[in-house]
Amino acid sequence: KAVVHWFKSDLRLHDNRALGTAFQLAKDHQIPLIGVYILSPEDFAAHLTSPARVDLILRTLKQLQRDLAELDIPLYVETQEKRKGIPSRIVDLCQEWEAKHLCANIEYEVDELRRDARLVRLCAEKDIDFTPSHDTCVVTPGALVTGTGKQYAVYTPWFRSWLRFLKENPDYLEPSEEPGSNPGDARKQFPDLFGCQIPAMLGNKKLSDVERKRFEDLWPAGEHEALQRLDKLLEEKCSWYGETRSLLSGEHTSALSPYFASGALSARTAVTTAKRANKNHLDRYDQGYASWISEVAWRDFYKHVLVHWPFICMNKCFKPEHTNIEWEYDTDQFQAWCDGKTGFPIVDAAMRQLKHCAWMHNRTRMVVSSFLSKDLLTDWRRGERFFMEHLIDGDFASNHGGWGFGSSTGVDPQPYFRIFNPMRQSERFDPDGEYIRRWVPELRDVKGTAIHAPYDRGAGGTAEQNGYPKPIVEHAASRDRALARYKSALHG
Ligand code: FAD
Repeated sequence: KAVVHWFKSDLRLHDNRALGTAFQLAKDHQIPLIGVYILSPEDFAAHLTSPARVDLILRTLKQLQRDLAELDIPLYVETQEKRKGIPSRIVDLCQEWEAKHLCANIEYEVDELRRDARLVRLCAEKDIDFTPSHDTCVVTPGALVTGTGKQYAVYTPWFRSWLRFLKENPDYLEPSEEPGSNPGDARKQFPDLFGCQIPAMLGNKKLSDVERKRFEDLWPAGEHEALQRLDKLLEEKCSWYGETRSLLSGEHTSALSPYFASGALSARTAVTTAKRANKNHLDRYDQGYASWISEVAWRDFYKHVLVHWPFICMNKCFKPEHTNIEWEYDTDQFQAWCDGKTGFPIVDAAMRQLKHCAWMHNRTRMVVSSFLSKDLLTDWRRGERFFMEHLIDGDFASNHGGWGFGSSTGVDPQPYFRIFNPMRQSERFDPDGEYIRRWVPELRDVKGTAIHAPYDRGAGGTAEQNGYPKPIVEHAASRDRALARYKSALHG
């Protein structure tokens, strides 16, 4: 007899709703708790999960397995080629272990909800008590509605309602019970489940040795690292966050997104800890902390949007009228964008940061998404896809939301006529050109403000000599073209 917790994107012990429930059940019945994780190469492929993200998941699983083993809780990991087979395999395992209780946190994407729905049916047939929990958002999707009972489609009023809700329901910020020693004698009853092998890599999601080492250094796996980063942010950076968060050189943000995505860190823990550090306020006292909490809330916002409008999972624009935008399909220009060779230094620096770190600063995510969809008039979905294929923090809802914002086709987007001027963004957020010089070595010798637009500002010779490309489009003309196309799609 046993209780099973099915780990998905909640790879942590600390403050994990479903794991807390599973541990409580195991304690109540004095039977062992077993953790299970099913790797599915087909699932990773279907969701465009980047090799860097798969690698982080595998490394996080190893850390989690060690932490659980210290509590005598086994983590059983198995690879299932076909993702359709996952629910029945989970049920088979429960039967094999004579487990009558299964717990898991809910993932809100369409495929995942369908998978859970199937699991509910299978568990009912086999008399297994399946308890799904809401965990990934601080406030459960569906809990916040407008005065007329509708889902918010604009962030600011939604955020006010999010704050109000948490003030009225402080229990939503209470952490879940962390598992202690396994209540049953799992080592005796299930000796084979301990020390189960976790592959070093999976299917075709391979990294070179150099990349693996680099990502290990940049992104050490697991919840201990995540909690340390959170502490560092709150102690050293948060007070300035409001003013510095958009600056591109230096490390002014938390770099916690990969840990939220793998579930090594709970958004609830992040908000609760920041609130505590902010003299118990969510939205005032120190503007730095308040502003960081409001950023974490964006993650909730986009998940709420996904739950209410699940069609966005199906390659659809948020508003149907945006389907009418006539895109260009210039393969060379798209490739130049992917390779960081557009001749726009800020765009190229960002795309090369993405390739090197599997991560990009939020400001430049906005700049490159606007550049692709407006300056190059390329369908934003190509960029959305490219991001998922490369980001270590790839998260469907936030990525879709971010692309919708940058391309002005999403929920609460920036207005379509607001088109970022890459040079101005560069001057504002990388005033000394440090970020550009770091990622674009061809421009390292360019002095002063010419770094932002070398060919226009007298540094074309150096740039050309070092092989840096000329701008592939002219911003003012591209801007006019984008305005005309968006206008015609929206207003006929
Ligand atoms: P911090 O500034 O320290 O913020 C803390 C946390 O708040 C982040 O880790 C993240 O969980 C959340 N957050 C902050 N800004 C946003 C935002 N705009 N939307 C949603 N959550 C936010 N974020 C992802 O986690 N995965 C993605 O795939 C992703 N794709 C994006 C694509 C585009 C085009 C854009 C414009 C944004 C995207 N974002 C994505 C949001 C944001 O850029 C990253 O969350 C942020 O840069 C991560 O860095 P950080 O952890 O240092 O953030």
